[in-house]
Amino acid sequence: MEVRILPLGGMDFPKHRLVRCQDPEEMLFSLAWAVLIRHPTLGNVLYDTGHSPAFLQGEMQRVLYDYPVRGIVPIQKALAQVGLTPGDMDQLILSHLHFDHAGGLAAFAGTQAFRHVLVAEADLKQAWWSVTTGQKGPYIRSLFDLPGIRFETIRDTTWLAEDLGLFVQQAHTPGVLGMILKTQHHGTLLTTSDTLATAESYQHDLPPGTAAPAVEAAFHANRRRVQALAAEYQATLLFGHDAAQVQAWAGKGTLD
Ligand SMILES: [Zn+2]
Repeated sequence: MEVRILPLGGMDFPKHRLVRCQDPEEMLFSLAWAVLIRHPTLGNVLYDTGHSPAFLQGEMQRVLYDYPVRGIVPIQKALAQVGLTPGDMDQLILSHLHFDHAGGLAAFAGTQAFRHVLVAEADLKQAWWSVTTGQKGPYIRSLFDLPGIRFETIRDTTWLAEDLGLFVQQAHTPGVLGMILKTQHHGTLLTTSDTLATAESYQHDLPPGTAAPAVEAAFHANRRRVQALAAEYQATLLFGHDAAQVQAWAGKGTLD
């Protein structure tokens, strides 16, 4: 198995909405990223797809957030930089269907991978409920309700191969897929996605500053579970939107 971290650009976002902090004005560069996995039995697998460049041209400002967006790399461009096209992918995994993770889905229309889009069942239900009842929020229907797409869903921990496992986290959304990757030479990597936005959030047990009590309780329970998984697999944790960490891991190139 070969693994690569692909940074896909992001948005300056109020930090307190992701990680509790003193200064409500403090901004955090919320970098989106994907994991490209070239696997001997599963083929080419992509975890998350970043932002939609089309969506960012004005629509986000209109419907969602009006924060500066920087350095957006469309997923097809990130794949091209490593010599691949969307048509080369066999399977997509989405940590969840928020706009900064599902934004690149349209690039896979008509491909093999478009028929194998794996997501947590609870997140797909939440996304569908959200966009069909007019909720304002980070699920954007035009990004994932696409002609010809076929979702596959899981409810609980699922190993796609002996070195690639997915687990369902009930924090941030009702179902966020974390991933466990056991590489031969770079140890085990565990992606949390947005249940833990940054290393600081994990290390200092800091939920989003805007979290209601039930959301905060879910954060703490999930963090304890991630801690236990990290210990069990002696894993390095990769957090949802920790720009410095993503850049450092992307800089290592191919992890095998
Ligand atoms: Zn996110």
